[in-house]
Amino acid sequence: KKNLIIFGTRPEAIKMAPLVKEFLKNSEEFDTRVCITAQHREMLDQVLTFFEVTPDYDLDLMKPNQNLYSLTADIITNLKPILEEFKPDYVYVHGDTTTTMAASIAAFYSGAKVCHVEAGLRTFNKRSPFPEEVNRSIAGSVSDYHFAPTTTSKQNLLNENISENSILVTGNTVIDALDFSSGKVTSSQYSDKEVEQLISIVDNSKKLILVTGHRRENHGQGFINICSALKEIAEQNSDVQVIYPVHLNPNVQKPVYELLADIDNVKLIDPLSYPAFVWLMNKSYLIITDSGGVQEEAPSLGKPVLVMRDTTERPEAVDAGTVFLVGTNKEKIVKETNNLLNNEDAYLKMSKLHNPYGDGTACSKIVNFISNL
Ligand code: UDP
Repeated sequence: KKNLIIFGTRPEAIKMAPLVKEFLKNSEEFDTRVCITAQHREMLDQVLTFFEVTPDYDLDLMKPNQNLYSLTADIITNLKPILEEFKPDYVYVHGDTTTTMAASIAAFYSGAKVCHVEAGLRTFNKRSPFPEEVNRSIAGSVSDYHFAPTTTSKQNLLNENISENSILVTGNTVIDALDFSSGKVTSSQYSDKEVEQLISIVDNSKKLILVTGHRRENHGQGFINICSALKEIAEQNSDVQVIYPVHLNPNVQKPVYELLADIDNVKLIDPLSYPAFVWLMNKSYLIITDSGGVQEEAPSLGKPVLVMRDTTERPEAVDAGTVFLVGTNKEKIVKETNNLLNNEDAYLKMSKLHNPYGDGTACSKIVNFISNL
């Protein structure tokens, strides 16, 4: 069976790398090739190096001032000769990017079976300022097989009249990626300049709170509230160290540096590469974030997550209790953080919950499914 696995951004690379590795382990049955569109360039390459995945085809499509029209057209046009030459039986796309949408259409044109990994997530808001909902819906509608991370995502697909026997609930491949990465970065042989720098910053005598935030919905008053809350938490709890890799967007940088730069137990650092971030998640006591991916990853490391959003497209985590929505209300962030810092029972209960996003076996489930077709 011939497989072509296509992706283009950093999060897709993180979530597809373990699938590539699983198929390559079964090289007698599968001829598996990897094609990257390089919709993101540098961050994608870092992840590929870390996972030791070498692409067979590199479309290298990142351009200054990239726009969705030309990117979509370029992906489809550039995939044509690859699809015609390799003639894959199965093409795999992931998630909800422009690469996902355009590659699924190209694969459909070629006659290959289209397989959508992380299928069935829905916000039910196609007219949001971002194209993700439309991207994942289009990929879903041209796909032959749907690998859904949870039963909620499976139900979304069933509601769109997708046949049940084309859907497999696998868990999210991000957990497979995390198992690999966490094992690698915490081993004694692992060395990495960024991790060395982190080792010199982390104060092992304190409880580490890891903070990340980038969402546009929190720009403005949201980030001001978040930073005021972090300031209060750090000042009230001298046994705590806050480490915050600050997103490069000026709307994030400005309030963060204005409000948090001069506090002893708050360290503001540059955004981290994926392996260094995984290392720091492992070291942390709890995580405060507005990131989607981190909500899926942290429960597998036993780290409670407070989410600085009012709504989430990851209701499974809220239902399971592995994350807690605190919005951007200062008092609420301070109160819930202090609760997890000072109430050991509440902390232990949250950190021992089962991760609703899977157990690290998503990729082997996908490979078995394709093998049995
Ligand atoms: N991440 C990273 N470095 C950072 C912050 C996050 O490598 O400084 C990783 C994180 O482990 C997760 C992914 O990037 O796998 C999530 O990305 P982000 O929060 O930017 O996007 P979202 O998940 O909200 O789409």
